[in-house]
Amino acid sequence: MTDAIIGTNKIETEHKMYTDQESNRKEFGTDYLAALDDWGGFKDEPGVIGKVTEIVRFVENELGPVTLAYVVDSAQYVAIRFADNPALGIVFVNRGFVDHRIEIPDSVKKKDEEVWRTELPTSKNSAATHNKIPEIKQTLCENCQMSYPAHLSACPICTGA
Ligand SMILES: [Zn+2]
Repeated sequence: MTDAIIGTNKIETEHKMYTDQESNRKEFGTDYLAALDDWGGFKDEPGVIGKVTEIVRFVENELGPVTLAYVVDSAQYVAIRFADNPALGIVFVNRGFVDHRIEIPDSVKKKDEEVWRTELPTSKNSAATHNKIPEIKQTLCENCQMSYPAHLSACPICTGA
């Protein structure tokens, strides 16, 4: 399977995205934390694991204990299965969000699909951190009242530099 085909399926239907790539999955039994660790999607954001654990516990309350956790071959997500209802008892942990087939507080139902999504705090926060422009210390010109980078010896507006 090529990346191009995966990409097309992803656009067409995310259900397909979740079934096509499970053929060579790497299984971790019920140890979903080990699966998440091996997957490594939250390596830089260990705080997110807590949120994922919250979701897993909620689903366990509704649909019984975790029965299997695995990383799909593409390493795009970690799937976690639950005991009571094979159709509904599965959670897909992606970078930045978790998809699930039962409603969880603070999750959003996807249009035309029986799938709910919980956004993880990670993606936006980390994007903001990674894209953050280094702060340049500013100083205020006493003459024109404009701020200018403090590393300059004089106000570039007033000196025409
Ligand atoms: Zn000035």
